[in-house]
Amino acid sequence: MKASQLIAHGAPGRFELRDVPDPHPAAGEVVVQVQSCGLNHLDLWLEEAGLPIPVQLPRTPGGEIAGKILEVGSNVSTWNIGDRVAIQSNLFCGECEFCRRGEDSICLRGEILGVQRDGGFAEKVVVPARALVRLPDGVDFDTSAALTLAGSTAMHMLTNRTQVKPGDWVLAIGASSGVGSAAIQIAKQLGARVISTGSTEAKRSLARHLGADFVVDSTDKKWPAEVRKITEKHGVDIIVEHVGGEVLQMCFDCLARDGTIVTCGATAGREVSLNLWPLFVKQQRLIGSYGRNREDLEKTLAWAAAGKLKPVIDSIFPLDQTPAAFAKLRARHVLGKVLVEPFEPESESD
Ligand SMILES: [Zn+2]
Repeated sequence: MKASQLIAHGAPGRFELRDVPDPHPAAGEVVVQVQSCGLNHLDLWLEEAGLPIPVQLPRTPGGEIAGKILEVGSNVSTWNIGDRVAIQSNLFCGECEFCRRGEDSICLRGEILGVQRDGGFAEKVVVPARALVRLPDGVDFDTSAALTLAGSTAMHMLTNRTQVKPGDWVLAIGASSGVGSAAIQIAKQLGARVISTGSTEAKRSLARHLGADFVVDSTDKKWPAEVRKITEKHGVDIIVEHVGGEVLQMCFDCLARDGTIVTCGATAGREVSLNLWPLFVKQQRLIGSYGRNREDLEKTLAWAAAGKLKPVIDSIFPLDQTPAAFAKLRARHVLGKVLVEPFEPESESD
């Protein structure tokens, strides 16, 4: 089969479209024909050796996979050839203390698909059957590949790590990002008043289109003051943050008393300094969020099927242009998700 493999780290790294042996399922595994795979910042970190995880090259990146089951290993009883599936990218053991209570996002033996084992920028991928989630009718492969990683991350942040109440002020950082675009829609559905940020007029316009009530210009360093003004000095109750660095620090400038920042990323910096005085005086919370549980992924796809959550797709590349997809995301000129389709979407109607 064909796979777009990273063979040398860098920014950009070196990719090769290679013929590699077809994967075969071990007991408890399935082989999925990849119809669509979303690109994420995680893939860029892998490309430039920016992950605090040892990675062996060559590696086929890509964790946000939707496709059809091609082959089923022994001990797999609930899945059949031809089933349409999404794959949970944070692979989990299903047995540790956290998995047993449904918290597979913090599995003790968790692995990231496309980082610690070969992922979806290939015609086929082999994964444990427990990582599969059935695609609801009416959710196509591209929609799934555009929502299952970042969208379910936002779902985990807003319905598991925090709970949004109707009337809450929610700030979703980065309207054009996968997490930001989903967070705006999820928070609105939950009855929140939503503010988002965007660095260009196109991104701010997207935020309004997705339902944000207010949008601020993130290139203006005074945006936290603008947020305080919008909320009539109350500040925001929940902030969905995934940028880190200075942005995380600025979030505290517009966080309400008893407010919560939930963060799942640090593309702009992993180390920040924090003034603890206002944190405890205002009884605020800074909460980490990592990946998603199966429940979050199922909810994300159910919401997509119900039309409550729409993917924002910037562009779609064929498999042989995977390096161009990486370059596009790296240049940050994207409005929504970048996808790679190893197969033409004609097989959707099967
Ligand atoms: Zn586990």
